[in-house]
Amino acid sequence: MVGMVVVFGVVGCAAFQPPELAPPGTSVGDSNEGWLEAGVLVPDRGDGFRAYRERERRYGSRRLTEVLEETAGWLQERWDGATLWIGDLSARSGGAVAGHHSHRAGRDVDLLFFTTSADGSAGRRARFMRFGEDGLAVGVAGPVSLDLERNWALVAHLLEEYPQDVQWIFVSHGVKAALLTYALESGASLDTVERAVSVLHQPSDSAPHDDHFHVRLYCSADDLPYGCADRPPIWPWVRRGFDRLEHAPTDDAVLLELALGEM
Ligand SMILES: [Zn+2]
Repeated sequence: MVGMVVVFGVVGCAAFQPPELAPPGTSVGDSNEGWLEAGVLVPDRGDGFRAYRERERRYGSRRLTEVLEETAGWLQERWDGATLWIGDLSARSGGAVAGHHSHRAGRDVDLLFFTTSADGSAGRRARFMRFGEDGLAVGVAGPVSLDLERNWALVAHLLEEYPQDVQWIFVSHGVKAALLTYALESGASLDTVERAVSVLHQPSDSAPHDDHFHVRLYCSADDLPYGCADRPPIWPWVRRGFDRLEHAPTDDAVLLELALGEM
């Protein structure tokens, strides 16, 4: 026992530098296996948004909470009274969240669709409803449709304002088709539509997401020095490498990706 202590002492003292502590709101590791350093709480409500899940599941990285609050405020300015319903983010320290494979590192968030009722009123309460390619809710009393204008505005804003951040917006094939059709018919920017073709995606390994969006952000430049790790793909418009970093990366996956070039 004494011998072991001596060995550790000799090996450990010479070169060991304790890692700098990650600041609050730093995302560490990846969405499926990582964690979150003192996550930032999304409040019950704010300009243009309301939260519909318990606070234990509403902590995000600094970047994700900034993006959400700005986006909700932007939507509300354009559509008076628009409410973005924000669901699960992550636990305060990240890690497993019941009901999700991911949501572990503060970079995932579920958002309800904007909906319109038969009388034209916007959806005023949080409610999961499944939608088909025709944009109509399945299995609810009375016709409720996707508010394609607002849902597309949400997607386009994320892609245009945060192109370096948004990796995925998980959504079903049907809702994706409805959104892209609307975007093309309404004269949306073709660059944005092209990005949306990649970023809007029905996941193959989880629910089809026909009742909500699930947005995932890449690691921010502030997260990367502390071991934040992105899984592929890295979209062609996303700048990767040392130009995104203030410090050299320390994470194996990031180093490997840099060594192998763009993925
Ligand atoms: Zn989700």
